[in-house]
Amino acid sequence: MKECIAAIATALAPAGLGVIRLSGRNSIEIAAKFFKSSNSSKDIKLLNGYEAAYGKILDGDFFLDDGVALVFKAPCSYTGEDVVEITCHGGLLILQEILNICTKNGARLAANGEFTKRAFLNGKLSLTQAEAVADVINAESLSYLRAVNEVKNGILYKKAKGISNKLVELDGNILVWLDYPLDDLPDIDILKFKDEIRCQKLKLDSILQNVKFEGVLKNGVQVALVGRPNVGKSTLMNLICGEEKSIVTNISGTTRDVIASSVAINGFDFKIFDTAGITDSSDVVERLGVERAINKLKTADIVLFITDNLTKDEDLDILKGYESSNIILVYNKSDLNYKKHCFSKYKFSEIVSTSHNNYSSIEKLKQAIYNVKQLGNINFNNMPLILNSRQKSSLERSSKILENLLKMLNSNVALDAIGVILEEAIDELLRLTGEKVSDVVLDDIFSKFCVGK
Ligand code: GDP
Repeated sequence: MKECIAAIATALAPAGLGVIRLSGRNSIEIAAKFFKSSNSSKDIKLLNGYEAAYGKILDGDFFLDDGVALVFKAPCSYTGEDVVEITCHGGLLILQEILNICTKNGARLAANGEFTKRAFLNGKLSLTQAEAVADVINAESLSYLRAVNEVKNGILYKKAKGISNKLVELDGNILVWLDYPLDDLPDIDILKFKDEIRCQKLKLDSILQNVKFEGVLKNGVQVALVGRPNVGKSTLMNLICGEEKSIVTNISGTTRDVIASSVAINGFDFKIFDTAGITDSSDVVERLGVERAINKLKTADIVLFITDNLTKDEDLDILKGYESSNIILVYNKSDLNYKKHCFSKYKFSEIVSTSHNNYSSIEKLKQAIYNVKQLGNINFNNMPLILNSRQKSSLERSSKILENLLKMLNSNVALDAIGVILEEAIDELLRLTGEKVSDVVLDDIFSKFCVGK
């Protein structure tokens, strides 16, 4: 077991409770120096794993706080080492003092992500699972949390490992053949071999398909509200998000910059952007606002084209070049009972009528926004989401290597060359799972974690 490390595991802000975590050699003995159980039979040195004791936290004779010590015994802990978690009152002074006592008694301050790094090094988590821990902590939408939890529970690891195991098996067949060419071994069936490689490449590519969900799940779906001034964009934004973020007036040109707010629809996070009304204004500030609105339109996942009784065909021009499958036409101010203009130039993905005094029309609009990206079709069970560029590059590289190998197999290539290339693909996958990864890469990954995790 490595030296004992200690850190405040909870956020550095006053709170009801706070947790100090110790892990490593002598962590229980170090905690026992300042944690005195109320019940002597529950001295923490005598506790079994997963047992807790209530007691006093003392700095010498000085009573600092009372709290609970929870003991984990190696290897049944997060890090795989002996671990003690002290839960006390969440005062910053208390937590800092306890941490000082830990270091005075032989613990070292933990570096960022060091507990999770130890969990990885002790074989409790693969590297992709360890990376997912940081994403679980930082998740801001339920949908992302669900997807990331699948990765934390090992789905990406299992899929990558399954592919690398198969490649290792194929490589093994080649090695046997190369080692014993004169024995009565059957020839390698190149057609079957190619099929196997193709099948593993397809599996890699199907994991890579999930890249498209990462941004949408992690950062939310970007929705831009566009349309002429005064059609009701700001009103709609406030109603969709349930807060008064945008200023509503009947004076045109009030919104001069892009204003952002967010809303969760069926557990998915949507970032809504209210933009300046698109118009040929001579006002410099208003013109800059329009420019920003057009830029937002270009990068948005979904565009709500808001219209009212005064909107005309030429107002559609702003949508030029934008993928029509992601545009929702909104006939706003439907309470005015105007004749709906038919914007025949475009095939909108959805058409919705709304009014600021009709709540159910706003709910319908929210449902339409949700439907456009077909988010309901995402199946999180067993979905190997790719969480970062490191994971993506490893998968892309191994897929590319297999693609090159398939091309080579069409010509008369030597078996030992095939073996070398297969091993390159395997190495990439082992780098992904963390079975073959350099210290520099590990340091980089864990330095992005918070202290105490
Ligand atoms: P924006 O310039 O497109 O952001 O439009 P605003 O949200 O500022 O609204 C412009 C004016 O239209 C305000 O006076 C709103 O009260 C009014 N308005 C907004 N939505 C509706 C609606 O559904 N029905 C009616 N009758 N008026 C609306």
